[in-house]
Amino acid sequence: MVEMKKMMMVMPGHISCKELDEKLDDYLEGQLSLWDQFRFKLHFFICKACKAYAAGYAKTVGLIKGSTGNENAQDTDVPEDLIQGILAKSAEEPEA
Ligand SMILES: [Zn+2]
Repeated sequence: MVEMKKMMMVMPGHISCKELDEKLDDYLEGQLSLWDQFRFKLHFFICKACKAYAAGYAKTVGLIKGSTGNENAQDTDVPEDLIQGILAKSAEEPEA
């Protein structure tokens, strides 16, 4: 996963762990734009720590709101093809 994480760093508009943390509430409530949602999903794809964090957080929030069972909802709905395509595209760009 190290290589993918490197690629992530050169992608336009990549989201940082800090930004993810700050916007996690909005994400879980569906308040973000599609682009931001995608950035979140992409981050979860490369960052296991945030994925686990968000899943735990969603579970906690779900418990509070009385709607459990959705903690995995954001895990699988990004087609891997799409992510691979974007990563491949950004990898083609010159480094300088
Ligand atoms: Zn992260």
